[in-house]
Amino acid sequence: MRKLLFLAGILLTGFSSQAQIEEIRRITETLCSPEFHGRGYVNKGDSIAADYLVSEFKALGCEPFKGDYLQHFAIDQVNTFPGKMSVLRNGVQLDPGIHYVVHPSSPGYQGKLDPAVLTGEQMFDQDAVTEALGGILEGTSGKNALALRLFDLSADSLKELRGITEVLSDFVPVIELVDEKFTWSVGRSQLKNLCLQVNEGGYEGGALVFTVDIEAELQKEYQSQNVMAYIPAQKKCKETIVFTAHYDHLGRMGTEAYFPGGNDNASGTAMLLTMAKYFQENPSEYNILFIAFAGEEAGLLGSKYFVENTPIKLKKIRFLLNLDIMGSGEEGITAVNATLFEEEYNLLNEINTELGLLAKVKRRGPTQNSDHYWFTEQGVPSFFIYTMGTNKNYHDIHDTYENLTFSEYEDITKLLVKFVDRLD
Ligand SMILES: [Zn+2]
Repeated sequence: MRKLLFLAGILLTGFSSQAQIEEIRRITETLCSPEFHGRGYVNKGDSIAADYLVSEFKALGCEPFKGDYLQHFAIDQVNTFPGKMSVLRNGVQLDPGIHYVVHPSSPGYQGKLDPAVLTGEQMFDQDAVTEALGGILEGTSGKNALALRLFDLSADSLKELRGITEVLSDFVPVIELVDEKFTWSVGRSQLKNLCLQVNEGGYEGGALVFTVDIEAELQKEYQSQNVMAYIPAQKKCKETIVFTAHYDHLGRMGTEAYFPGGNDNASGTAMLLTMAKYFQENPSEYNILFIAFAGEEAGLLGSKYFVENTPIKLKKIRFLLNLDIMGSGEEGITAVNATLFEEEYNLLNEINTELGLLAKVKRRGPTQNSDHYWFTEQGVPSFFIYTMGTNKNYHDIHDTYENLTFSEYEDITKLLVKFVDRLD
């Protein structure tokens, strides 16, 4: 029975699975490759990705939207690490992204750091912090930085200490010693002093000296762009379905390490192209607009710009589907905004059950964590769809093409195509 349903699914949606998976692999591998520099703000990685997407949309026969494939916008400030990225600990070279990350808002630094080490207990003791800081600033302790032992602490203590690094870095360089996985992001300003997050590496006390050579550059008025592609409806139609996915990621942390952003969000970007191919071959009753947003990781900047300078009447959007983190799905998908758009959520769920596709379509309320947010604020009906499953690599150098399974990719595309098809 399942097999029959599966066959029916293929017939209904016109997807040929093998060819589709090969396409997805080709696109995600390209987006994740070193030549794209993590699709961020070093070496114009985001623009390289944008040009690539335009060429892919063109090859599929998609039209520009209102005369343009690109919507340009500027990011007022973004912090970058374009050059040297070297850290030695007690004379031993550490690997960027594996043994340490620099704080996204850190300035650069060249030289030796001989930190005064604060334990968890001392960090909660105002006098101990003042004394360590005073010793550095007055030059009496012979130290020139602070190291914070942020391991062996309870989750509550860590929560209370959140932000301490940024506060202390107003005065001296700060090194966090941690035992968690690194989760990087994009900085939009620069702190006064260097901040590093270093793996504790079994540190039990004693000598701790860092030799640092890190270049940082706060870029101003950085030029980026959203990518748009359009497929008009079969017969003239006033309403449009919008598929969105951000194509940007965190970029480079020095010349050696970059963040490929496989799951986040090469996977969703590739799915836009899959959808474009499908609707190009099977035109819908609706117009279909695809938007690949830039600047998501820097604070949903591309989508904010789009909504504030929209080339489409927002009222004419019948529904928007924002795809972010689509590379997993063994545990199903989540539909953000499900509580706002009950009818559409029920439809999505119904199709999923009928065709026997995903483990579940989880219902979730509104969130502010991806590009659908600005549209929701303006009353545009939308879902933000993300996958749930085994891939836990997030904002780290392990979120690679190689770590993507694509196990539910086909089922998700079938579900979304059918959803558009059955939408009134
Ligand atoms: Zn994302």
